[in-house]
Amino acid sequence: MLPVENPTTSYWQATSADSPIHDHGRDGPLPTEQLFDVVVVGSGISGATAAYTLLRGEEGDDDDDDEARTTKRPRPKVALVEARRACSGATARNGGHCRPDAYAGFLRYAAIVGKDQAHKVLVNERQTMDYIRDTAQREKIDCDWWQGKTFAAFMKHEVKALSRKSYEAYDEYGQLNKEEVTWIEDAEEAQRVTRIPGCVGAATFTAASVYPLRFVHGLLSRSIDAGLQLFTHAPVTSIEHQQQKQEQGIWTLSTPRGTLRAKHVLLATNGYTEALVPGLGDFLLSHKAQCSSIDPPPAYRDEGSLKQTYSIAKGGEDFEYLVQRPCNDAKRSSKGGPFILGGGHPLTPRDQVVGTVDDSTVSDAVTEHLRTYPGRTFEGWNDDESRLTHVWTGIQGYTRDSLPLCGQQAWSDSAGLWLCVGMQGHGMARAATCGRGVARLILGQLAGANEAAMTDEQWEHASGLPSCFRWTNARSKRRDVDCRYE
Ligand SMILES: Cc1cc2nc3c(=O)[nH]c(=O)nc-3n(C[C@H](O)[C@H](O)[C@H](O)COP(=O)(O)OP(=O)(O)OC[C@H]3O[C@@H](n4cnc5c(N)ncnc54)[C@H](O)[C@@H]3O)c2cc1C
Repeated sequence: MLPVENPTTSYWQATSADSPIHDHGRDGPLPTEQLFDVVVVGSGISGATAAYTLLRGEEGDDDDDDEARTTKRPRPKVALVEARRACSGATARNGGHCRPDAYAGFLRYAAIVGKDQAHKVLVNERQTMDYIRDTAQREKIDCDWWQGKTFAAFMKHEVKALSRKSYEAYDEYGQLNKEEVTWIEDAEEAQRVTRIPGCVGAATFTAASVYPLRFVHGLLSRSIDAGLQLFTHAPVTSIEHQQQKQEQGIWTLSTPRGTLRAKHVLLATNGYTEALVPGLGDFLLSHKAQCSSIDPPPAYRDEGSLKQTYSIAKGGEDFEYLVQRPCNDAKRSSKGGPFILGGGHPLTPRDQVVGTVDDSTVSDAVTEHLRTYPGRTFEGWNDDESRLTHVWTGIQGYTRDSLPLCGQQAWSDSAGLWLCVGMQGHGMARAATCGRGVARLILGQLAGANEAAMTDEQWEHASGLPSCFRWTNARSKRRDVDCRYE
């Protein structure tokens, strides 16, 4: 269940060949003789934000000048090891849509973890969007950040009713921000503003689009400047803990290029984690998804380009999501770049979606569905004038309570094993603060704190995350959601 060697190529990968980070540290044996404070496994947005926080601190303002650092904490010795190219998992294959939930998931999360935690989950998503924007700005990472409004377009009355129920429940809980969320009840008005003739209602709230791979390569580059040792093309095949007499012990990570040794191991390995933590696979499942880029017809360029991002829902897994890229091609005079469109989930048999890590293939049925979807959905879209340019798949990590899995395996003797995984199909609004949160906990541990002994309240304070994200033994046994169908 390791990442396969010949994955499909996403739009983001195809258009970022100039990045010097892709194959950084790909040659030679690994430095087995060194003992790292932390080895991070996985270079997606989770692993990259963790490495960045470990090395550059909270605001990325830890000074690069060693002398200036004497009054600050010593910088830990950190390596990041990646099976394939740098950022080549789900983060390099997603829809580039950072869409913090403003109300819709409230009831669903409340049924699993209670209303207070459900509220914190939503707050965390908004914080994640702000974090990516602020970090990109501060570090001058060119990742085409766009922030504006998103449409939730409802294609069926029952989907609209379900969404409205959560809207009202969040309002009753006292936290719905009505200045932020606009509810469009009238179908005709919804059709007019969304340009989707079939929709029966809509809601709008704040969201963003981003070039995810460039954001992560930017973080990795800033972390390398701060001392990160990045090794790509080095799949970790096993991890082993050796207890030392008085101390917490040393982890050994095996790869075909030799071993690495560390006091702490952070697995940011998403849907691949079971390969390294046997037994976790009943709680954290791999989940394949497909996405595409489509050059729009003239009616969707220039003044006709979309002014919002979209999620277009028919119910359950049956939904599409899309952002329209800014057009950066100087040769083209038009505004309004490709649509990045994902969905078509129900068209693939479940056994080809759940439990597979093969992102080397696409489903022809989903490809055809995505190619023709805008023409079947948006007014004035002529298929003859549009062109599917890329289609690809990626592997996500789904948990059985639909929430991220963060923190230390605190209940076993093997101290120092940390996870930041399970972002579902929603990692752009989750993973960055999760990576930062786990890094905060590890930094605390290196400074003498004891994560295992923390109350949930202390854990929330130390990590900045809702405690329902915390990795506990009891949680790994939960089965609230059947990921095969949701
Ligand atoms: C098609 C698709 C569309 C999506 N669209 C969106 C969207 O629009 N908005 C949104 O919010 N979310 C979306 N998602 C989900 C989002 O991409 C993920 O939740 C997020 O990127 C997860 O980030 P991560 O860093 O945790 O995992 P990843 O980016 O998957 O990173 C994990 C890394 O670990 C590496 N790895 C795994 N095992 C090993 C090992 N043993 N040794 C070394 N390295 C290893 C992998 O190669 C990979 O690079 C989408 C996902 C897919 C697949």
